[in-house]
Amino acid sequence: MDPKAHVIAQGGHGLRRARMLGRRSVISWRGELKDVNWGVVNNGLDFLESSVEHLAKSNNRSLKYAALHLYASTETLVKARLAREHWTLVVADANVPSKAAFKSGDFKSISLAQALQRLAAVADVVTDSKAVGRIKDVEKLRNRAAHFSLGGETPERVRVVVARGLDFTLQFIEKELRPEAPIEEARLIDETLGRVREAIGRIQVLVQERMRSLQGSLTGFPVVLDCPACRQASLVLPSGHAAKCLYCLYNPDGEVCAEEYSASILEISRYSHAAEGVDWPIYSCLNCGAEAFVDHIYTASGEEVGWACFACGYYAPTGDIAICSGCGSPTDTMRGGLSLCADCVAAKFEKF
Ligand SMILES: [Zn+2]
Ligand SMILES: [Zn+2]
Ligand SMILES: [Zn+2]
Repeated sequence: MDPKAHVIAQGGHGLRRARMLGRRSVISWRGELKDVNWGVVNNGLDFLESSVEHLAKSNNRSLKYAALHLYASTETLVKARLAREHWTLVVADANVPSKAAFKSGDFKSISLAQALQRLAAVADVVTDSKAVGRIKDVEKLRNRAAHFSLGGETPERVRVVVARGLDFTLQFIEKELRPEAPIEEARLIDETLGRVREAIGRIQVLVQERMRSLQGSLTGFPVVLDCPACRQASLVLPSGHAAKCLYCLYNPDGEVCAEEYSASILEISRYSHAAEGVDWPIYSCLNCGAEAFVDHIYTASGEEVGWACFACGYYAPTGDIAICSGCGSPTDTMRGGLSLCADCVAAKFEKF
């Protein structure tokens, strides 16, 4: 469907599967666009299987292909589901191509995000924001892997991000693609899922074992948050240091971490703040001054922490911090029912 996907399908796994399924595909390739859809689903499932095979290995090259192929698989299968509603829905151009051009894959197709939006609009297939977040994480990895490299990413992080993305893709296949699939397609889905489930189970065990091995270290920290990089419950706030994730070893500058946390976990980006008027949750820290003091923080187990600084580890319950009525910055000094920070109080005295 995506011209690139067709090119990729000519090599490696695509060829192997085409050979494996050659006889069956000749029998089932009847009808017009049904053939195209079958080919696309076949391709998407092949990418899925390849991703899982790569994920089971631990070298960096394999993990890169695990991310690339999982994204290709998800994009292909979501578009295949959308094409079931109508083939023109996966076309990006306003000028819809001929059916012949569509069948040969010679057209520009929409993005995965657009495909999910259109599925929600035309088929009531609604993807919750957490699931979208998981697949966006895979997309970020894919972009970096495709254009640069995964240098700087730890293997632990790549593995857990891809494993969570796999969750989304498997659920999508089971809930949205498998029902009402033509017989041949359904059989192919069942065979592929049968093969990949076992391998995915082993990968999940690896993730759980690593989490278990961290429990001793995690209990030494009063506040444990969801990590914006790997989404495991393993981001800690060491006193006097920037936040760091014990699972994936994510340990950027505190201000960067605060913004990533806001975007990935609180789902508030600079864009949603500017375009939709959502309150920006990051302020200057009362303790260290860094722009890394975040409001509405929750622990990984869902309890409200209130405020926490990702640069110095200072945290305070919501009730202990007020917004200064003079300058809008957070303050812990409240005088006579008025919330005024020390700077604003000093400025008022100067005036008198
Ligand atoms: Zn992490
Ligand atoms: Zn601070
Ligand atoms: Zn003030």
